[in-house]
Amino acid sequence: MKNRPIVLFIAALLMGATACTAQPEVNPQNEKKNPHYSHTDKAPVKVSNAEWKKILIPEAYSIMRLKGTERAGTGPYVHNPKSGTYYCAACGNALFSSATKFDSHTGWPSFFQSLPGNSVAKVKDADGFRDEIECARCGGHLGHVFDDGPKPTGLRYCMNGYALMFEEGK
Ligand code: FE
Repeated sequence: MKNRPIVLFIAALLMGATACTAQPEVNPQNEKKNPHYSHTDKAPVKVSNAEWKKILIPEAYSIMRLKGTERAGTGPYVHNPKSGTYYCAACGNALFSSATKFDSHTGWPSFFQSLPGNSVAKVKDADGFRDEIECARCGGHLGHVFDDGPKPTGLRYCMNGYALMFEEGK
């Protein structure tokens, strides 16, 4: 049993790797415990980060309020084949239709078009060259938009799955 510590170490590494790359099918964020979540209220949502921190799961908070990025392939909805609507995980604002989703092979859910109206806002990223995409209602960071997407728009909205909440058939 001389090798036992090494075997245990490798087993622990493998378990850790599995836990880190687990890809949830849906966003585990609980919108029912969120007083700002609505598909009908269009009023701007101005909420402090301290309050968002109490409402959002850590993954959504670090992305949406601290402009973080989930590791590629670790967030929900990358391979979601269902038809429906993607909403802002923080405020419930409708953002994207599944009809404009495509497989970008990046590990992040990607769309070639946002929903018309007050869905998303494009702002210059602090890095000075990328275009950041925020929810137009709550200002939550969602991801970035690039101009290497498919027709008809040529755009690629590269989104964090933890910033989205999918509802089937709507
Ligand atoms: Fe929002």
